[in-house]
Amino acid sequence: MTPTILHIDMDAFFVSVEEVLDPSLKGKAVIVGGSPEGRGVVAAASYEARRFGVHSAMPIARARKLCPHAIFLRGAHKRYSEFSARVFAILEHYSPLVEPMSLDEAYLDLTGCERLHGPAVATAQRMHDEIRDTVGINASIGIAANKLMAKVASEFAKPNGCFRVLPDQAARFLAPFPVGTLPGIGPKGVQQFRRLGVRTVRDLAALPLEFLEEVFGEWGAQLHDKARGISHSPVQPREESKSISRETTLEEDSTDPQYLESVLSYLLEKAAGQLRGEGLRARCVTLKLRYSDFKTVTRSRTLTVPACEDHILFATVVDLFRKLFTRRTRVRLIGVGLTSLTREALQQMDLFDTPARSAGRETLYAGIDRIRTKYGFRSILRATSHNEE
Ligand SMILES: [Mg+2]
Repeated sequence: MTPTILHIDMDAFFVSVEEVLDPSLKGKAVIVGGSPEGRGVVAAASYEARRFGVHSAMPIARARKLCPHAIFLRGAHKRYSEFSARVFAILEHYSPLVEPMSLDEAYLDLTGCERLHGPAVATAQRMHDEIRDTVGINASIGIAANKLMAKVASEFAKPNGCFRVLPDQAARFLAPFPVGTLPGIGPKGVQQFRRLGVRTVRDLAALPLEFLEEVFGEWGAQLHDKARGISHSPVQPREESKSISRETTLEEDSTDPQYLESVLSYLLEKAAGQLRGEGLRARCVTLKLRYSDFKTVTRSRTLTVPACEDHILFATVVDLFRKLFTRRTRVRLIGVGLTSLTREALQQMDLFDTPARSAGRETLYAGIDRIRTKYGFRSILRATSHNEE
């Protein structure tokens, strides 16, 4: 049986939530993220703001230059988590196989559900309308035979559409697109391919497997498959998360600690959002840095009490960063990982406000205060201080 995989992606999610709460924002250039002092990075931008070149993960200062008339909002993770939970509740009504990728993005496996729900495109449209009517947010949905093509299809459907790529049309559909359309190929990859004379997916598909393996090692075989729209990665429902990580290759290698910390904060928010979305807590936090010479280093720390709060996890990862980062070598890639995930601790902590819990919290806050004292209050929570207490 050919699989039916959906990729559901909310359009400008954080901005859309703000618009639901304050409809006067609709149709305006709205940018969420950063601090009132104008530091940090863009977490989300409305389509009106994007027309000026603003995009996620861009430094707020640059967004201000590109789009000075935009409305800048700090954002609040708690609100976004709540809206996200409502969206996921709808998705899980359609299939138990839902894999959250972030607060606003998920894969869903509808294979074999046609007798129950009807044709996939009609089901996707119904899902789209239900999210719009009950949560008030537009989604774009891609439908295909695997996750790779579903993701490309949802991107193609944006904003506010549903789009299906038929299984036997995948390679033909992909061929004319720029190679950067393929998930996993970022701006750096695009540059690298350009040097090889590869601009479109068609160019990539023309390269022999042996050549790709010689140039890219293990990644070569994956690229060979991707160029043909082939992917075998299964949709893994939320219970199976053993770790949650987010990483990004920087647009330009950097030694600027302030910039690197704000990127870290952005990645942490995404990872922690997924963590909370899955009702989990993490006991172990990992920082990953890859330098411009491709040397990769990681540092981990185990928390005394598993946590899911941005400010606790961010304080940990930023402390690891400050101990590790010497500014001598430029950073090419930065990432954060959350492991030793537990559900049990969450239930205990949420159901019973035990003395042990308060004591644990006090220890944590004391830890944050120590770091704050050492490095300054703002420096630690600069970009993520969504204090939800
Ligand atoms: Mg989105």
